[in-house]
Amino acid sequence: LEFRFLESAADPPVSGLGPVLSADYDDPHALERLAAHVDVVTYEFENVPVEAARALEAWVPVHPTPSALEMAQDRLTEKTEFRRLGIQTAPFRPVDSLDQLRAALSELGMPAVLKTRRFGYDGKGQAVIRQESDVAPAWDTLGGVPLILEGFVDFERELSVVGVRGMDGEFRCYPLSENHHENGILRVTRAPAPGLTPQLQAEGEAILRSVMESMGYVGVLAIELFQVGDHFRANEMAPRVHNSGHWTQDGASVSQFENHLRAVVGLPLGPTDEVRPSVMVNLLGDLPNLTEVLELPGAHLHLYGKAPRPGRKLGHVNIVTESAEASMATARRLLSMLPPPMG
Ligand code: AMP
Repeated sequence: LEFRFLESAADPPVSGLGPVLSADYDDPHALERLAAHVDVVTYEFENVPVEAARALEAWVPVHPTPSALEMAQDRLTEKTEFRRLGIQTAPFRPVDSLDQLRAALSELGMPAVLKTRRFGYDGKGQAVIRQESDVAPAWDTLGGVPLILEGFVDFERELSVVGVRGMDGEFRCYPLSENHHENGILRVTRAPAPGLTPQLQAEGEAILRSVMESMGYVGVLAIELFQVGDHFRANEMAPRVHNSGHWTQDGASVSQFENHLRAVVGLPLGPTDEVRPSVMVNLLGDLPNLTEVLELPGAHLHLYGKAPRPGRKLGHVNIVTESAEASMATARRLLSMLPPPMG
């Protein structure tokens, strides 16, 4: 496959992989030039403007469908669609004024989580309301844009389900992974998730599959899940390859990246079940001593070529050994070598 990229940021990590058209995503001339040179368009960032994806669709196939982008960009639309498909979520209410916030709080109770409907990521654009005195500060920080209030889910752990759907409707799903965050940013993914039962795997797959089938989705999709008892509440979806699926580069015979590309160009999908126990650790903020990282048994280093900045994802290390315990023991050693993520 040959690649071309449209990217507004200077010096993007993809620059070594093909020509980069340096322009805003919604620049109509850039979109037309991109479309003139490619057979298919995909994206790996969910804040691409939906209008840009729709404009491209007039010239070339765009996968995943721009409707998936639209759904993922608005937490209210996303959760409403999950519910329509019979998928459990936290209880939620739209909030556009302080009065609505108070009304929603009296219905959902406290604690609750107030979030911006759009452009939130890595825990940004949200506030937990635990008591009456949190209400005004949360509104002052977030108010003025459309919001959603969610009931607080007292979950046991956070998992994600990553899978792929091909043009012919074939569906394949990786084992669910368990995710751990630091300062709201993903730090560690364990795959398969410890204690993953066939029933949990089946429930995660059914959630993913129903979302994909409802919109004729083609490509990789990830859904973040809260585990409550033996069931899930869906939190949010990402219509792209996902950070919690990066372990598949070294722990699966066909990675999420390869499967995404196979899907969007209409090739057969590769296996998602031939996996080795993996732990993915994100390198955040600043890099550790890379020679020491490479000396760890089973460690595979992936760097993005980005400048250090507090909290920024600069790369990740996949640790793949013969057992989940050994991979996790090495991950703990790696974690003790890392600089603090926020500087
Ligand atoms: P999000 O941006 O929706 O992924 O939220 C970031 C993190 O906040 C999640 O990974 C959870 O740890 C936590 N969180 C989000 N929504 C809720 C909720 N409704 N109840 C409890 N914790 C939540």
